[in-house]
Amino acid sequence: MKIEILGAGREVGGSGISIIDNSTNIILDYGLKVNRKGPSSNPLHTQDVSAIFLSHSHLDHCGSIPLLYKKEDPPLFTNQITLDTINLLIKDSFKIAKREKYPMSFGKNEVKKMNKFSKLLEYEESVIVDEFTCNMYDAGHIPGSAGILLEHSSGKKIFYTGDIKLDGSRLLNGCKLPKKVDVLITECTYGAKNHPGRENEEKKILEQIDDALALNETVLVPVFALGRSQEVLLILEKYADKIAFDGMAKAASEIVMQYGHYLKDPERLKKILNIVKWVDSPEERDLIIRQYPIIVATAAMMSGGPMLYYLRQLKDKPRTKILFVGFLVEDTPGRVLLDTGFFKKAEEKYKVHCEIHQYDLSSHAGRNELFEIIRRTTPKKVICVHGDECETFAADVAREFSNIEVYAPKNGDVIDV
Ligand SMILES: [Zn+2]
Ligand SMILES: [Zn+2]
Repeated sequence: MKIEILGAGREVGGSGISIIDNSTNIILDYGLKVNRKGPSSNPLHTQDVSAIFLSHSHLDHCGSIPLLYKKEDPPLFTNQITLDTINLLIKDSFKIAKREKYPMSFGKNEVKKMNKFSKLLEYEESVIVDEFTCNMYDAGHIPGSAGILLEHSSGKKIFYTGDIKLDGSRLLNGCKLPKKVDVLITECTYGAKNHPGRENEEKKILEQIDDALALNETVLVPVFALGRSQEVLLILEKYADKIAFDGMAKAASEIVMQYGHYLKDPERLKKILNIVKWVDSPEERDLIIRQYPIIVATAAMMSGGPMLYYLRQLKDKPRTKILFVGFLVEDTPGRVLLDTGFFKKAEEKYKVHCEIHQYDLSSHAGRNELFEIIRRTTPKKVICVHGDECETFAADVAREFSNIEVYAPKNGDVIDV
């Protein structure tokens, strides 16, 4: 059996893994890599695909799947919440591509085919593909996210984490893991860093909100649509009647509430979603600023979405607070704003006088959690992918677990297992 790295080898973005056994070619994720300069790129080419398994609906894991339907029609195994969300994201990508005049590498026809050949697979259900029995395990990363276990008829087990979180949050339970795997393919986004305790971060966020409310000031919370926006609402539960909720976070929340069984406490979230003000139209936004002190909206890294409108209106107010609640990728408008105090996107550039803070509510396992995942799955081989420092992390794992063979392959590398 062989494992070929098609994407996210020694980098984050464009995840793709091929598991090859004789004529079987199983693809785990096939994502998009958004490049800082120039167009997005896809994982390496692959063909004669037997089946695709998708870990979750983030574009860096699913954004290139339609490409695999150009000439072939393999089954895509995923769950309904993931399928609904990728359709929402792909629809949005078409809209953005049209507006910003860059070409998409696939058309609506491929997306239609992808939907037609998708097969639903819930956690811990199994499906057989040639010599493999395949299962999905809750990965605790975003609603519906999954780790994928492939068990070969010879008994050999390969587990791919996708993006994973060991510890639970207010929104999600922590991941579930299979025991005794032979090969673990793990993300290592935070291979070099532990996250601060979530409770402490939540406390600091609430203190900022209390401060702002006492002064009648506005707080802007830019969020990811799926997962983070719902988690933020749960953290801010006691202020629900003071929150306006805007952007793609609304559509994502509608999807999430249809599939409440992926959440820790769906009833609680439902109650909050019924209290917060859903912003229905762009015309309402000026009134929202006057009436609602807390605005939770997309996009998380300020690359688009209604958050930009709110920022433009409030940029000169020094006591307005902007609370980033996650990682900001380099060169994104959010990161530039945090680092320089200027908002910059394409032709638009202006100084922002607001108070800016960043908190860490990561949905990825930190370094100690990654070590614990390795400890619990007892692999003989560990393949580190999806990290900016995969090689350093691999060396650390090899030092910590002297009986494990550890790899940090590049894209195109093939590992015999
Ligand atoms: Zn992800
Ligand atoms: Zn990812």
